[in-house]
Amino acid sequence: MERRFGPVLFVPGRNSGRYPYCNSLYVEGELRVVIDPASDRKRLQSLLESPGVDVAWLSHWHEDHMMHLDLFDDKELWISRADAQAIGDLNSFCAAYGMTESEKEYWAPMMVDQFHFRNRTPNRLIEPEQHVDLGGVTVEVISTPGHTPGHCSLFFREQGVLFLGDYDLTPFGPWYGDVGSSIDQTMESVNRLRSIPARVWIAAHEEGVFDTDPGERWDNYLKVIDTRDEKLLEFLAEPRTMIDIENEGLVYGKNREPREFFVFGERRLMGKHLERLVKRGLVTSDGVTYRRV
Ligand SMILES: [Zn+2]
Repeated sequence: MERRFGPVLFVPGRNSGRYPYCNSLYVEGELRVVIDPASDRKRLQSLLESPGVDVAWLSHWHEDHMMHLDLFDDKELWISRADAQAIGDLNSFCAAYGMTESEKEYWAPMMVDQFHFRNRTPNRLIEPEQHVDLGGVTVEVISTPGHTPGHCSLFFREQGVLFLGDYDLTPFGPWYGDVGSSIDQTMESVNRLRSIPARVWIAAHEEGVFDTDPGERWDNYLKVIDTRDEKLLEFLAEPRTMIDIENEGLVYGKNREPREFFVFGERRLMGKHLERLVKRGLVTSDGVTYRRV
């Protein structure tokens, strides 16, 4: 259901804003801005016709936030400086995910066919903590790295609306699987968002709008990180290779289809947990296998 908070319109994504869709925002200042245009192509098309769109603004570079960016090819594009390179061309995009050649073979055609990927050069590079005046509406950029290096959450202070972006408070938990992602920064960013004096919280996926403080959801979201650590440590009671770990499906479940998609996610997320557990001295590796200490 669409919801309006003064000049800020919440546009729900198809399939409850689940991947490959997300929830969008449409902000009507003197500049009319669509944020994360991957909700519903028809609705975005109708907003483009009336009242119109001047700017497409991406909270970060992921494909499920820009699937319909191609509708706005001739409009301004804004994204954070730190995330800009990844949308420049498909090679940079795949590199930002740290894709291998075979992963690229799976993802690159899908990016073009399903996500309408086009090489884009942003017109404006958003800086951390910048206040952006849209004419009658001010947006405060809350820099929330971790998910991606340049992930931006947006605070409409006057309306009390906080757009969390991909810190979406879903039961699945956070994603921090890219080359530039970080578990520690993810935790810091979620805690920072929690401290913002908002009255309405909007997430880019699923439920979307929280009219009261999400409360326990903040904790539960971060607890998923510990749960992933615990599951991995348990599995590493015996020496395991990366392939063993991928196939175990500790994050997504075993034997999910399409296999390439889920194994990719499993590999990326578990890789970050391994890195962290090795650093803490809880896991050792001989270069081939990993084992709990
Ligand atoms: Zn994302």
